[in-house]
Amino acid sequence: MKVVVKEDILKANDTIADVNRKRLEEHGIFVLNMLGSPGSGKTTCLERLAGMLQGRLRMAVVEGDLATSRDAERIEALSLPTVQINTGGGCHLEAPMVSQAIDDLPLQEIDLLVIENVGNLVCTASHKLGEHRRLVVLSATEGDDKITKYPPMFQKTDAVALNKVDLLEFTDFDVERAVADLSVVNPNAPLFSLSARTGQGFEELVQWLDRERATLFGS
Ligand code: MG
Ligand code: ZN
Repeated sequence: MKVVVKEDILKANDTIADVNRKRLEEHGIFVLNMLGSPGSGKTTCLERLAGMLQGRLRMAVVEGDLATSRDAERIEALSLPTVQINTGGGCHLEAPMVSQAIDDLPLQEIDLLVIENVGNLVCTASHKLGEHRRLVVLSATEGDDKITKYPPMFQKTDAVALNKVDLLEFTDFDVERAVADLSVVNPNAPLFSLSARTGQGFEELVQWLDRERATLFGS
């Protein structure tokens, strides 16, 4: 007898993720799953993105965290529809959690839904949530070895945001090495060098989002 519990659970998760994606697609909503380590700057990137898209795309956010609603409060302060998922210690979001969260969102009033996953470079990679695209936020302060140390995370993403480039001079992070590693692990994924603190590089990220959205819904 073969025990395939893990595969079965993941399969069930993916089925619900498909339902989520189709439901959101029916409302013309483009969904981005944002992943990365704790402290990589996912929430700050979201804040910056929200500022850039204001008046152009209606954005909503699902915030995944083990505990607290601190990040959701930061996003709510921007007057964006926000739903907090507390996983109660769980280290990743799963599709059924997102299914519940989107019940609480005004789907008619949203063009872009960003799901900020729990900070984690491992099992978040293997759980689809209903996203159209993935963006991994990797920060200059984490070290340039993460792409080769956590291959599934970087293999399964559509793009990488190298955040905190304003701090590069204080670190040993080698951008050329990161770019070279990514070109081996995932040659199709662009890498955007940016700083959520200063706003540097966000034009390119927004252009990528616009392009990817257009491939699904037209411009
Ligand atoms: Mg956060
Ligand atoms: Zn996990």
